[in-house]
Amino acid sequence: MSISQLARSIVESPTLRLNEEARLLREKGEPVISFGVGEPKNKAPISAILGSAAKLLSGDVKYAPTDGLPSLKKAILRYTEENYDRIIAPENVIVSEGAKQSLFNILYTIVNPQDEVIILAPYWVSYPEIVKMVQGLPVIVTPEDGSFVPRFEEIERAVSSSTKAIILNSPNNPSGAVFPEELISKVVDLCEKKGIYLITDDIYHKLVFDGKVAPPAWRYTTRDVESSKVIVVNGVSKLYGMTGFRIGWVAANRDLVRIMTNIQAQTTSCVPPICQAAAEGALTGLQSYVESLRLTIQNHRDVLMQEIRTFQGVKLHKPEGTFYALPDLRAYRMGSLEMSNLLLKKALVVTVPGKEFGMEGHLRLSISGSVKDITEGIARMKWALDPSSPNEIYIGDRKLVRDWL
Ligand code: PMP
Repeated sequence: MSISQLARSIVESPTLRLNEEARLLREKGEPVISFGVGEPKNKAPISAILGSAAKLLSGDVKYAPTDGLPSLKKAILRYTEENYDRIIAPENVIVSEGAKQSLFNILYTIVNPQDEVIILAPYWVSYPEIVKMVQGLPVIVTPEDGSFVPRFEEIERAVSSSTKAIILNSPNNPSGAVFPEELISKVVDLCEKKGIYLITDDIYHKLVFDGKVAPPAWRYTTRDVESSKVIVVNGVSKLYGMTGFRIGWVAANRDLVRIMTNIQAQTTSCVPPICQAAAEGALTGLQSYVESLRLTIQNHRDVLMQEIRTFQGVKLHKPEGTFYALPDLRAYRMGSLEMSNLLLKKALVVTVPGKEFGMEGHLRLSISGSVKDITEGIARMKWALDPSSPNEIYIGDRKLVRDWL
């Protein structure tokens, strides 16, 4: 088979692969617990369902404008004003099939071959792959102090004459960290001084715990949207539990949006209007959905912290937002891939190896499932990894004995 070098260099999405493995095991009746993919269990908001149902029932489902339905864009403008205190125009927005496509469009639009894009570890698995797909070079900055938030100087040091963009994701997948205001304002400053794009992936921006807020990069630029280097990515997948509707968007200066629209026109033409109507319904409907999700996940985070306290050898920075936690399991002296495989085979628990996020020795746990999944999942992990835990456990109706430690 003849496959291009570029296609060959792109790795599979580990979270989607693990999700599929878990689904197949579940289909066989295995009592799998998934800490894999990050998506809320709740159904989509009723306003989203009604919005898309009305569109479908009209039977008038045709190509839509490439950059998005005007009514959805209007809802996005209002969302932007309410959440970012920014007034932007329809020409500053392009709707895509998920924030993933939004990120692809941005990078395709700005990156020349061999341009560098700075990515902060731990990072979302798709960033380096998308950068490679547009023939750019991912430059990874890993915090030297072992924390999940890089120091500004570490980012500054990574900037070269080939740097085209920095990607910032706070609240962060996979660590749950929220970056401090000072770091964000300094990075905005750096980007605007050096003419580097700052891509802020805000997909989790309202999933922040303990009454805190994630400082948005836009707050720290004095420039208007047309001259600012800040590009904001957002979507409905996470906050509204609408991962399957595939709606994301970009807010940026209109020249960038125009070029991204050309690219989208030559790839996917437009985003399905049924899904756009759903997103419009979510953005214009009752927002208590998001708040109740936030409180649920905050409670899951508290349960997780409680359960992990008695897990010998595990260190965990308390997540401040998102669906994720990134415990450090280096004490068990195993690669994260090996550990994740062991947990799946022996304990039927799906985790994602930290290696995939640039943090070897860690595992990413998604806590978007249920409290029961969290308590039982952590108990199984303890049984599989911690020699000081009892060596017998019930998984489903099977009594298992640990014989490998
Ligand atoms: N950015 C981050 C940080 C994510 O975690 C995800 C989804 N896991 C996305 C973007 C993509 O979201 P969407 O479903 O809108 O493509």
